[in-house]
Amino acid sequence: MHPTTQETKSTCCYCGVGCGVIIEHNDLEITGVRGDPEHPANFGKLCSKGSSLHLSAKRILQQQARVLAPHMRENRADALRESDWESCFEFVSERLAQCIQEHGPDSIGLYVSGQLLTEDYYLFNKLAKGLIGTNNIDSNSRLCMSSAVAAYRQSLGADAPPCCYEDIDQAEVILIAGSNTAYAHPILYRRIEEARRNRPQLKVIVVDPRRTDTAQEADLHLAIQPGTDVALFNGMLYLCLWEGWLDQEFIRSHTDGFTELKDLVRDFTPSMVAKTCGIREQDLLEATRWFATSNASLSLYCQGLNQSTAGTAKNSALINLHLATGHIGREGAGPFSLTGQPNAMGGRETGGMANLLSAHRDLNNAQHRAEVAELWGVDELPSTAGKTAVEMFNAARQGEIKILWIVCTNPAQSMPDQHLIREALERAELVIVQEAYRGTATMAYADVVFPAASWGEKSGTVTNSERRISRVRAALSPFAQAKPDWEIAKAVALKLARKLHRDKPYFDYADSEEIWNEHRQSTAGRDLDITGLSYGILDEQGPQQWPYPFGAQKGATRLYTTAQFATENGRAKFIPTAYIAPSEKVSARYPFLLNTGRLRDQWHGMSRTGTVAQLFAHAPEPSVQLAASDMQARFITEGDLIEISNARGKIILPANQSDSLHSGQVFIPMHWGQEFTGGHHLNQDQMSSEHLGVNALTTSAFDPSSKQPELKLAHVKINKI
Ligand code: SF4
Repeated sequence: MHPTTQETKSTCCYCGVGCGVIIEHNDLEITGVRGDPEHPANFGKLCSKGSSLHLSAKRILQQQARVLAPHMRENRADALRESDWESCFEFVSERLAQCIQEHGPDSIGLYVSGQLLTEDYYLFNKLAKGLIGTNNIDSNSRLCMSSAVAAYRQSLGADAPPCCYEDIDQAEVILIAGSNTAYAHPILYRRIEEARRNRPQLKVIVVDPRRTDTAQEADLHLAIQPGTDVALFNGMLYLCLWEGWLDQEFIRSHTDGFTELKDLVRDFTPSMVAKTCGIREQDLLEATRWFATSNASLSLYCQGLNQSTAGTAKNSALINLHLATGHIGREGAGPFSLTGQPNAMGGRETGGMANLLSAHRDLNNAQHRAEVAELWGVDELPSTAGKTAVEMFNAARQGEIKILWIVCTNPAQSMPDQHLIREALERAELVIVQEAYRGTATMAYADVVFPAASWGEKSGTVTNSERRISRVRAALSPFAQAKPDWEIAKAVALKLARKLHRDKPYFDYADSEEIWNEHRQSTAGRDLDITGLSYGILDEQGPQQWPYPFGAQKGATRLYTTAQFATENGRAKFIPTAYIAPSEKVSARYPFLLNTGRLRDQWHGMSRTGTVAQLFAHAPEPSVQLAASDMQARFITEGDLIEISNARGKIILPANQSDSLHSGQVFIPMHWGQEFTGGHHLNQDQMSSEHLGVNALTTSAFDPSSKQPELKLAHVKINKI
């Protein structure tokens, strides 16, 4: 007899679009997945990744790919051995307690992930800041969205994207900057395509050094030189000034700082900007005219702006343009950062980063620290700034951080300048890896492995790019001995509290809903107030946008509709955005600029998508993309092995001619690491330990405000081997 088929509504675990899915399953296996027609993010549609979720969840694959049991070793020289949960919890809590007593709480660092659910995030943040007593908790969201966050906070007063997906249907102009939306946010891109079919007059401008699939379909593609976005946006503002395209009334009534900015942009003449950005003056003028004079201009942007040493300035310069033209707080208008990961937003809501506290509170604010301390029932919270992602691994490399607890992320592949990261992992005295998949590069450094539950086995909430909170529901029990992430945090916290003789803060949660209710309580009176929301409402009425305060009947579709901003005086701020060239330039020694990014059918380090054969049909193996002119000049033909190198490292990949690149640029996808680099082309000698994936080459230089590293630009040389 076939087991009974059931259906469970949940959310896709990949990108920040946050599509609703219906999981088809029985008691033993997930058998299918389809888009949830009632979910407002996707109305039943799924992209190639989302529609293969059930394939990646197949039990036979899970048996091969997952961590099946807890593992540990007491000495680095020993091999990891299978253990049991109780022994691992005891060992870890004892080592944490010892480390706190001998070296202080800041000798511990937690590196977590935008893949975690909000409830997981809340508990890890509470464990770090409320019990261990350190702000050394940061997230791989630092590599993803922190520049967008810094700019929203500086300009608008809060980490709150003002727009919603409906704005795509209502915009007259959509400016896509630094985002290959067709690959990275496919369901949103389909919405843009549909909007263009319905309204042929809709103009799409794409700003991207590469002629991506998104750029090819645009009405106007500004193929700027990598890293010159600030010059472009300042140049557009210059033209608005001279052509009389400003919204003077909006500037006067609702903003501060325009005079200072006006002085700064005087230098950004069309000829200067055209030369700096490598575009035609007439294209600059056309783009500016469309953007400034439309009734509703929307910008969509992602890692091309964020992953940069000038990431905050790039975001701010674009927001300046929206404020100066009044394209904000209205239907179809506003600066809309697209979230990379499924729950980078939810993580920030809980304050799960080194510079934040619960509910968008600021770590530097004594009043905010006191509010959270009171909520958690502790005397005080640590005030010393926590280490952000790159800083945390640097501190471990220098012996300052002695224990690293890495949760649901793979820094030995995804962090920039891999040699430094791997040195840090070797130097740390204890590395705890909490992970669902056993093949990740970071696993090689683990002293303790906590097997974590994965998609389809966990329950909680996530928040997508448009501030919409959706339920994630478990269809099956966790595989093998895996546990949900929050349960692992809780178990360690309870043991650690006993060892530290503390009875606060509270960690004895019965389920994820109890954690979420405490998180909800922490948002009272804050910009993201969700005191009117509950698991019950989410279950009955479906996903909801924040804020959703007590007594509300629905969440806020868009923010700042009355032009009251979240700053102290309610006025938005123009930020003077000087143009600063990228940290690395081309030179005789390194004549190429490397760009990194996603492919359509893979996700991050491929621990999940890499288990699905169909998802390799689009790009079966990694390659280095080169312009035809560069290949001809160097007698390179398709498939030749190319060594790409700089002072940080080298990798070897087959050449792939691409008409999306200008001469002098190379592109390498981010997905493949040591285990995959070079595919079948490499012999054993070439598969040396030098092959660490593209992040062998990227720089750990970071933006001074957001601390987000410049993952999308590095200088390199290439040699045919
Ligand atoms: Fe999942 Fe993103 Fe694809 Fe939607 S667009 S199905 S959230 S990967």
